[in-house]
Amino acid sequence: MKLPSQIKKSCLRCKTHQIHNLKKITKGKIKPMKWSNRQKERYGSRGNIGRYSRNPCERVKLSKRPHILLTCLNCNFNSNHTGRRNKKLEITKKKLI
Ligand SMILES: [Zn+2]
Repeated sequence: MKLPSQIKKSCLRCKTHQIHNLKKITKGKIKPMKWSNRQKERYGSRGNIGRYSRNPCERVKLSKRPHILLTCLNCNFNSNHTGRRNKKLEITKKKLI
């Protein structure tokens, strides 16, 4: 799926439609000393790891919803946006201004 690098969307702070810059949010650096990672190392995989309580169709989905960061050009306010479910997201260099 291809998206332009700028879209027009309503800003939460300006309360009007403004031009926003798009940026794909990627996974950050793994921090092994974080509390959640230390707990995983300590307790490992106990129990059924949530396998049997879920609907089987939830596990089948191969695509994920991309997380996109929207930045308003008028006030520099950042907001998160979850896009459509797709396998590969590509942000093109197409600009509105
Ligand atoms: Zn704004």
